[in-house]
Amino acid sequence: MSVSAEATVDARTDRLVGLLDERELDCLLVTNLVNVRYLTGFTGTNGACIVSRDERLFLTDFRYVEQASSQVHGYERVEAGRDMVGDLANRLRGRAGFEDGHVTVEIHRKLGEKIDDGVELVPAGGLLEGLREVKDELELGAIRAATEIADEAYEELRDRGLVGRTEREVAVSLMRSLEDRGAEGPSFPAIVAAGEHGALPHAEPRDTEIPRDTLVVIDMGARVDGYCSDCTRTFATGQLDGAAADAYELVRRAQEKALGAVRAGAAYRDVDAVARNMIDAAGHAEHFGHGLGHGVGLEVHEGPRLGKTAEGELRVGNVVTVEPGVYLPGEVGVRIEDLVVVTDNDPEIITGFPKELITVS
Ligand code: ZN
Ligand code: ZN
Repeated sequence: MSVSAEATVDARTDRLVGLLDERELDCLLVTNLVNVRYLTGFTGTNGACIVSRDERLFLTDFRYVEQASSQVHGYERVEAGRDMVGDLANRLRGRAGFEDGHVTVEIHRKLGEKIDDGVELVPAGGLLEGLREVKDELELGAIRAATEIADEAYEELRDRGLVGRTEREVAVSLMRSLEDRGAEGPSFPAIVAAGEHGALPHAEPRDTEIPRDTLVVIDMGARVDGYCSDCTRTFATGQLDGAAADAYELVRRAQEKALGAVRAGAAYRDVDAVARNMIDAAGHAEHFGHGLGHGVGLEVHEGPRLGKTAEGELRVGNVVTVEPGVYLPGEVGVRIEDLVVVTDNDPEIITGFPKELITVS
């Protein structure tokens, strides 16, 4: 990593230390590997950090010592036993936060048995997840790169065609195309759902040939440096009936309007409502059963969530999807999903593939 990239990663721990003060914690034990990666860059499967005002410790077992020495900077690296609980417990001090959304009951019990007198285990989950909602330049760069790769895969798909190929074959070749273009892999198993199957928001690709004259929902993303992209497009495979064409236009307009509402200070539920009100007004309230969008980063679904009952406001540096849908049971589904960076002004829409109805036969 370059010096400036290291400084960017180090700054994440600086922000965490600021939160420790707010929560009156003396240290935080970080065991969620996604959060460990966020703080240290470590990509192995056994590692943990302890962060306090004056100490930054990274612990792993012998299998990962070498990997850690090249990946982990800004932390004192400690080799621990494979079951790290004792080594971690010995190093906790004072009011010691732990990630209660992640630590199992068993590990919590073992920690409790092994900590020194005077150490208090304090539930402190969500601190890192909150920090991760606001992306730094390094993260934005990786997400932009992942999004570009997915855009290119969509272009290849448009040229190659859909009719007569099975959903599964299209999904597999899309995921291969992401890797061919330099992605570590897909950010999740691609969704390819034609006709009435597209009316299921989380459809799994079938061994069924894609027919003419319907809609096909395709949802996929690439992973670059651990960061995900997420993009949905809905294609026509020929002539559409009125209901399908209307649903597409409705979703496209609702998506555009919701994008216009994405900015720092906008309440999550208000952004959701912009698209939802339009879809409701067109008589499709019951056909849009999921939230408008979600944060994307090291995980393809993370905070913030844009939904009907979501509490909170967008902040500069959030990266969220805007993905309204209309699902007509037994007929077709439509979803259009872009990935955007929240700014003080208009959002930066990082997805580049067009959104007007494209016919791919
Ligand atoms: Zn998606
Ligand atoms: Zn999504």
